[in-house]
Amino acid sequence: MITRMSTLFLRTLREDPADAEVPSHRLLVRAGYVRRVAPGIYSWLPLGLRVLHNVERIVREEMDAIGAQEIHLPALLPKEPYEQTNRWTEYGPNMFRLRDRKGGDYLLGPTHEELFAQTVKGEYNSYRDFPVYLYQIQTKYRDEERPRAGILRGREFVMKDSYSFDLDDDGLRSSYERHRGAYIRLFDRVGLRYVIVAATSGAMGGSASEEFLAESITGEDTFVRSTESGFAANVEAVTTPAPAAGSVEGKPAAEVHHTPDTPTIETLVDFLDSSGERGFTAADTLKNVLVKTRQPGTREWELLAVGVPGDREVDMKRLEAALEPAEVELLEDADFAANPFLVKGYVGPKAVQDNGVRYLVDPRIVTGTAWVTGADKADHHVVDLVCGRDFTPDGTVEAADVREGDPSPDGNGTLEAARGIEIGHIFQLGRKYTDAISLDALGQDGKPKRVTMGSYGVGVSRMIAAIAEQHHDSSGLVWPREVAPADVHVVVAGKDDTVREGAERISAELDEAGVRVILDDRGVSPGVKFADAELVGVPTIVVVGKGLTKGVVEVKDRATGEGTEVSADSVVGHLV
Ligand code: ATP
Ligand code: MG
Ligand code: MG
Ligand code: MG
Repeated sequence: MITRMSTLFLRTLREDPADAEVPSHRLLVRAGYVRRVAPGIYSWLPLGLRVLHNVERIVREEMDAIGAQEIHLPALLPKEPYEQTNRWTEYGPNMFRLRDRKGGDYLLGPTHEELFAQTVKGEYNSYRDFPVYLYQIQTKYRDEERPRAGILRGREFVMKDSYSFDLDDDGLRSSYERHRGAYIRLFDRVGLRYVIVAATSGAMGGSASEEFLAESITGEDTFVRSTESGFAANVEAVTTPAPAAGSVEGKPAAEVHHTPDTPTIETLVDFLDSSGERGFTAADTLKNVLVKTRQPGTREWELLAVGVPGDREVDMKRLEAALEPAEVELLEDADFAANPFLVKGYVGPKAVQDNGVRYLVDPRIVTGTAWVTGADKADHHVVDLVCGRDFTPDGTVEAADVREGDPSPDGNGTLEAARGIEIGHIFQLGRKYTDAISLDALGQDGKPKRVTMGSYGVGVSRMIAAIAEQHHDSSGLVWPREVAPADVHVVVAGKDDTVREGAERISAELDEAGVRVILDDRGVSPGVKFADAELVGVPTIVVVGKGLTKGVVEVKDRATGEGTEVSADSVVGHLV
């Protein structure tokens, strides 16, 4: 397809919009990709819509490749399903609520767990039907307190959300892994540099969860990474190493999963209670004990960190018996700094006041918090916690940010803080939503089995802002080819007929060869055309000008700025 600048619905702006603080916002508005309608609400103009469609196509291809099926649910939703799961109230002021003419309560969907669960319940009821993966690419609504940076944090935005439905925890784990793999492939394809960090599950509930963060100083999330290795971790709390940025086969060295059905943390609490391990007193120094457990027949170790008073022994035999049928390995005096995960936070005053309190840190609980179990087992609450330092029993609440310059937990290099944009988020939800609506499948044994769920989001529109953050220079956008609105931007740099005809011919030949062309055939100066070509950011610029009399055109690489003279007759072969 040839897109002619003379008719394209596009007016680029010379000046930065007054409300734009970050490069992606400035450039996407200046280059005419998006236009603001209201805070956090944007229109897509032709070039922007093309990029959006390209990103959507890549997302679809990778979702389809893992066997996910696309459906489309409404954005305008009745209150009832969200009442069943309590989210009508729990979700808070970010949910857009509205009334219809009869006084019925509705919402604009901020995320669709309830509706997907209900949809599956409506169609499937046998173990033979599972697993199933469903997804949609859809407009989401969140009344963000601070809409920001154009499409980066919108109140209306495009998300790909998918949901997996499995009959057991192993199934859920493998569905999660498949989505994780699809995400790595799709973020690689769109040309993003990113890290994967363990995350909190926030309003979703559930357990194991990881975030994909596109590296960018304008991001709102902070993570740490090693100066030497691929280690990266969310600063919020307990994390596992993430793969090298953008790495395809990147797998954390220790992948830690938590599913509600693996009762290890509870069993451990029970064990410590029953075995008279009464926790520590304010005078105690703390010893860190790392317990590695493994369920029979699985290859993955699960890691538990337990803080016990320095002079106590943990009875291994009894522990093993308590964690039956798990296989147990105990590392006393575990050096957290040498282990491939990080436990950070602060010790709350509660833990200090109450001498009977012991704390348990479960690195699988990737919520950024730790369990504190009081002397009374009912006194079971969650605080942020420091572990792997000496415990300071002075009653102060100690801030414990991961500091730049700390040694990297994997032993390679030191940690530096970096910022990232959350572009994707994957959760092993478990049965929170299926319990709420009793989503069961009839098992092989004729008994009903509760289905377990995963949910997986990609910020489709936000990704475009993230790509623009990573791919631009002082002159404009520099799109990676797979998402660019065109492959080649042909500039007609001259008024005479030979130049115009030459540019037309080259464009037609490129088009025939399947290359997506923008042809700048406007009656404006070459200077204006060059500036617009750089602003728009198509990967290759072909300048057809005076050189044509010698039979040459200039081919410029937008990213490097390098120009080469190529004969007009061979330019198509050169570019295809
Ligand atoms: P954030 O922490 O940035 O508020 P979130 O954790 O609330 O995001 P999720 O509920 O995990 O978001 O939604 C899945 C994905 O949708 C996010 O990873 C992000 O890429 C995208 N997303 C969330 N909120 C917005 C928004 N307001 N505008 C654009 N994209 C968004
Ligand atoms: Mg949010
Ligand atoms: Mg988030
Ligand atoms: Mg999130």
